[in-house]
Amino acid sequence: MDFQLESIVLSGVDPVRPVVIAGPCSAETEEQVIATARAIASNGIKIFRAGIWKPRTKPGGFEGVGAEGLGWLKRVKRETGMYTSIEVATREHVFAAIKAGIDILWVGARTAVNPFAVQEIADALKGIDVPVLVKNPVNPDIELWIGAIERIYRAGLRRIGAVHRGFSSYENKGYRNTPHWQVPIELRRRIPNLPILCDPSHIAGKRDLIHAISQQAMDLKFDGLLIETHCSPDTAWSDAKQQITPDQLFQLLSSLVIRDMDRPSKDLAELRSKIDGIDDQLLSLLATRMQVAGEIGLYKKANNMPILQTTRYGQIIEQKSKMAKSMNMDPEFIREIMKAIHEESVRVQMKVVNDLDT
Ligand code: PEP
Ligand code: MN
Repeated sequence: MDFQLESIVLSGVDPVRPVVIAGPCSAETEEQVIATARAIASNGIKIFRAGIWKPRTKPGGFEGVGAEGLGWLKRVKRETGMYTSIEVATREHVFAAIKAGIDILWVGARTAVNPFAVQEIADALKGIDVPVLVKNPVNPDIELWIGAIERIYRAGLRRIGAVHRGFSSYENKGYRNTPHWQVPIELRRRIPNLPILCDPSHIAGKRDLIHAISQQAMDLKFDGLLIETHCSPDTAWSDAKQQITPDQLFQLLSSLVIRDMDRPSKDLAELRSKIDGIDDQLLSLLATRMQVAGEIGLYKKANNMPILQTTRYGQIIEQKSKMAKSMNMDPEFIREIMKAIHEESVRVQMKVVNDLDT
């Protein structure tokens, strides 16, 4: 499908990278919204964000202030001159947001996975000219992401952007949502004129990773950043660990290195981030393998078996080095890696068994 898109940059917003959207995860009180907005605007940020309907993993938590927050956002616009943006997840959200003069809407990650929900939003948007950002679905499915973008496009909207906010995974990992940078890179290859923003806050899940992720997004030529910013992050009613103060936001933005790279170095950044993604996967696979090793340790103990079984060890090494050869890798290299992995598995098994004994 050939997407004929128009710019999402609103008048008065500098089109240079990165376009920044900042504001709290959730609008909590009028005071919190206004205090955060003033601090953000005083440093030249032009687009404010705040969730007023919050998709929470479990019921019973803070699910947003609802339509009352729209009035607070109107006040932000009036008093600071910033544009405002919110998440919409239903047709009612769309109508209420448009009526309140919200300038940019976004489709959240939990909504983007559901074609019925996205279609409902697209239908509600028919005939309305408003920029819409589509976050990636929670699972790393590029077709689903493009499908959501296409539904909005087919409803007649032309000012569309994408937001990369990482992908959930079962394994233990350093991120709240694993970046899998190869997915947004593929999205750009498939729809080259689609602006892509990065949401480092939801990828990181914690403050100290936000800078590095933002820099990586800039090195990959992302067009903008969506960063959760709160006047008092530690007391935030949602996503407290990943929100930063307006001061921290400005420090972060001023320390970003924006390289206007020519083609070869852009390609290099893409390749490096592919490598980073692969390394992340290797690490989480190793973590899973060690967990299973621990379970084997327990099984062997329960069945009175010795931990080290040399025939099995020999088989693994032989099998894998043969396989390496057929995959065009140096068998000696894989032999070394398998030895190291096996050694560590034995250590983990012994530790599990010892811990049980003591
Ligand atoms: C948000 O931006 O506050 C949010 C809920 O994000 P996501 O849809 O990416 O989880
Ligand atoms: Mn959030």
